[in-house]
Amino acid sequence: MPYDTQNIFAKILRGEIPSHKVYEDDKTLAFMDIMPMAEGHVLVIPKCEAVELSDMPADYIAAVFSTAQKVMAAQRKVFNRQGIVQMQLNNAEAGQSVFHYHIHLIPSSIYHLGLHENRQGDHERLAALANQLKSAITN
Ligand code: 5GP
Repeated sequence: MPYDTQNIFAKILRGEIPSHKVYEDDKTLAFMDIMPMAEGHVLVIPKCEAVELSDMPADYIAAVFSTAQKVMAAQRKVFNRQGIVQMQLNNAEAGQSVFHYHIHLIPSSIYHLGLHENRQGDHERLAALANQLKSAITN
């Protein structure tokens, strides 16, 4: 599938629409999911044009997973829990709805996970959580 530069995460990367940022470096961005499947649901994306895993260059795979480790450590601190669900959907057939590669990091259990894209999160709460996670990230 060709990469569409008008997808919502490309717009977030270009700063055309806002996001509650948790972490950013030269190759990645982490921000709050707007329809969280649990409190503290974060997305990690690469700053390259990749629709799904098969499009990801190795250096960006490394960068995205390195950022995911930082975010997960912060989620463990902030939410005082060890269980974090890591999820990533490849293709619409798997349920992918935004066609820019992203890892979901969800402080939850597979047995208690909320529904996917079910309900908008409260923006004040998302902003507060983003700040807490940002402060908890150690480089
Ligand atoms: P997918 O189904 O592609 O794996 O997940 C896409 C995710 O992006 C969903 O969890 C959805 O809630 C989230 N999402 C969709 N639009 C936006 C948006 O505009 N901003 C943010 N922060 N998340 C979004």
